[in-house]
Formats: sequence, C-alpha cells, structure tokens
Amino acid sequence: MALNGIQIFKLTPKKNCKECGCPTCMAFSMKVAQGALELSKCPYMSQEALDSLSEATAPPMKSIKVGAGDNEYTLGGETVLYRHEKTFVSKTRYAVSVCTDMADDAAEAKLAEVSKVDYERIGEQMKVEMVYVNCGSGASADKYVELVKKAAATGRTLVLGVKDVEIAKAALEVCKDGKPVLNGADASNYAEMSKVATDAGVVLGVSGANLDELYDTVAALEKSGNKNLVLDTTGATIKETFANTVEVRRAALKNEDRTFGYPSIVNVSRLARDDRHMAQALASVFTMKYGSIVVLPGMDYADALPLYGLRQNLFTDPQKPMKVAPGVYPLNGADENSIIVTTVDFALTYFVVSGELERSGVPINLVINDAGGLSVLTSWAAGKFSSGSIAKFFKEEVEGKLKCRKMIIPGKVAVLKGDLESKLPGWEIIVAPREAVELVKFFKDMQANGEL
Ligand code: SF4
Repeated sequence: MALNGIQIFKLTPKKNCKECGCPTCMAFSMKVAQGALELSKCPYMSQEALDSLSEATAPPMKSIKVGAGDNEYTLGGETVLYRHEKTFVSKTRYAVSVCTDMADDAAEAKLAEVSKVDYERIGEQMKVEMVYVNCGSGASADKYVELVKKAAATGRTLVLGVKDVEIAKAALEVCKDGKPVLNGADASNYAEMSKVATDAGVVLGVSGANLDELYDTVAALEKSGNKNLVLDTTGATIKETFANTVEVRRAALKNEDRTFGYPSIVNVSRLARDDRHMAQALASVFTMKYGSIVVLPGMDYADALPLYGLRQNLFTDPQKPMKVAPGVYPLNGADENSIIVTTVDFALTYFVVSGELERSGVPINLVINDAGGLSVLTSWAAGKFSSGSIAKFFKEEVEGKLKCRKMIIPGKVAVLKGDLESKLPGWEIIVAPREAVELVKFFKDMQANGEL
C-alpha cells in the first residue's frame, strides 16, 4: 500500500539539512510519496526507517535492465497508465525474430537486414535494438546455439525464446555477457529456468497459459527470490494478447499489485504470422499499450518510419518542451567569419534546419535562440522570438564570439527584418525561404551571386 507524505515524514530524520535537494524533510517526503524522488537521496535515513519504507515507497512497476554496454536498455518503471497523466518513462524496444525453423539463408538474410534500419531523428538514434531468437520445437541445442551466435554477431541485445532448460544453458554459454533476456519460464519449468537465468545473471521472461497461471508463476518466482523478470503477455489471439497486456499493466499501476509490476514482451510476429501489414498495425497498438519489448517479423524503412515516429512522440515528456541548448553551432567547418543562420530552440526545427544546412555544404554558424522550445511562428506569436529577444541574445552571446555581421532569419518571421536592423546596427539581415527544404537552393543561389 502506498504511503502518503505525512506517513513518510514521520520516519525522516527531520534535520532540514537540504542535502537531498529539498528545502525541508517535509518537501522531501512529499516528493518521495509522488514517486519523484527516491528514499536513498537522504543520506540520514536510519536502516530501520529504510526497511519499513522501501517496500511501501517502491514504484509499482520495476525498472529492469537488459543488454550490456551501449546496448543496455531499461524497461518498465512506469507510473501512469496514460501519457497525459505524467509521462511514460522507458520506451518500447523493438526486436526482429528469427527461428531455428527458418532456412539458414532466410535467417541470415533477416539478420543482415537488422542493421539496415539505422537513422537519426530529432537527436535520437532509431534502430532495431534487439533480436528474438526462437527455438522451434524439435531443434537441437547445436542448431539453436548456432543461430544464437549468428544473432549475437549483429551486436544487438538478444531475447532467447527457449523452453528447454539444457538448450537454454548451452545458448547462454555463448551470449550471457551481452545480458540477453531468457524468455523461457512457465508453470512447468520456472524453478529450473530461474536457476539458469540467475546463474548467468540475466533477466528471466515468464509466460503462462492464462493470466492466473502467469500470476501464480511470477508469485512463485518472487518467493524463491527472483525479481529480475519480464512477463510475456502474448496470448493465442490478438484479442487475448491485448487483454493480457492491458490487464497486467492496470493491475500493477491501478491496483498496486506488484506481482504484475514488471515490463512485458509482446510477440507480434506470432500473432501476425506472415502478414507484414498486420504486424505493423499490431506493433503500433502494443507500442501504445503496453509492450516493453515488441517482437516483429522484420523491420524495413516502411515499417520503421511510422513506428519510430509514434514511439518518439509517445515517450517524450509532455511537461518538457523538446528543445536544444541555445548557442552557436558551427556547421560544415564554419569559423568566426562564416555567415550566420538563426532560428529557435525547438528540437524538430533545429534538426530539420541543421540537416538542410549541412546538406548545403556551406560553412555556416547556426545560432539557436532561447525561444522556450517552441516552433518559429508559435514562439514569435508568444513574444519569445522577437526582434528584442534576438538582438539581446546576439549582443550577449554572439557578437563577442563571431566576426561575421550577416544574419539569415527564418522566412516565416520576415517581418522582424526592419526591427532587427535598427536594434543591431552594423548587421545585415537577410530573409531565408519559408521552408527549410528550400535552404540548399537558397545557398547555391547566394554562392552563384557572390553573396557568400
Ligand atoms: S537530506 Fe534528509 S534530513 Fe536532510 S532535508 Fe533531506 S530528508 Fe531532511
């Protein structure tokens, strides 16, 4: 049962020393009760208080780490059912599945495709993070291990879909350093699988014939001391899978039933079979509700562009504008004499504009103004990207750093040109096209006219 701030406050040291970053122990207690701070931030809590508070103040859903090094990912740790209530925390990770039932060349071709989808959007690297390696019925340990080795060579985090304890052991021998998920426990084998996973130091995936069986298996694993789990909520049908996945999350967050407080795996490739369009639709559904790992039959750019865009929109904090730091960003080897382009700090604007400027090949200093993380027209309408704010920023942050006195402003705020010229004497103000996509031609024309 969650505690309120007053109940937590009673157990704090009441020193009001501020070392936790809060002005008082009461403020600290309120933040802990809201889940915004961890108890460990106070260095003076007694062991007795920590013991009695830690279980009650633990988040309803565990954060579980999988993978290693650059490919380590945090799953779960969510506190709300709907993004608009606060924010989602750990983004859905996508896995492409291969299986021992596939012909060798088909599996190899699919693994080769994994690295092809790899691009950056608004500062975030979009790629297939995981490979799901399924052990088909009747496959030998040697055949499975061979496929696991090939999948590990992609450098992606693995999810081992295997129910046979001895085959699981053999597979982990060749890949446990990459901290894969061993998705193999069910009611029939959970004790042995738990030992295999614990010995290898990896996360255990648990499934059940239905939610009751899944619940009982998780409870038994927790009782044995293994709380390093993810729950495979994939059912026999799409409807059952959706109901399972939503019910597990609701039980954890609404009813605070911590037995279901783990991240989930949804195997869309099993539900959609060979229908790539259905797989794409289901991947979107389970990105929103509530797959921590979504397993797909494949991922090409046609799949990736909408899916990663959806994920990026969903897993940004609605309370924080997506912005980049104001300042001077030299592009294409620009120095202090290079021409200046200025715009706002909205992340999407920055990445679209900087991409086009880089494509132009012209050395340019891109100056990003503090516009509250809003787009050009919105920030202009809100008075956050005005001739006054731009002139102030240039006088304070730019004039001492750059010698060039030619500034290109966005076409959508051409109206600022006259004001800027009067507020920044000695500056030549040039108006860019309205759309970023026209920037390359714009600079080519400037070069051809000898204006650069
Ligand atoms: S660090 Fe501990 S004692 Fe100090 S103000 Fe925070 S909660 Fe109180």
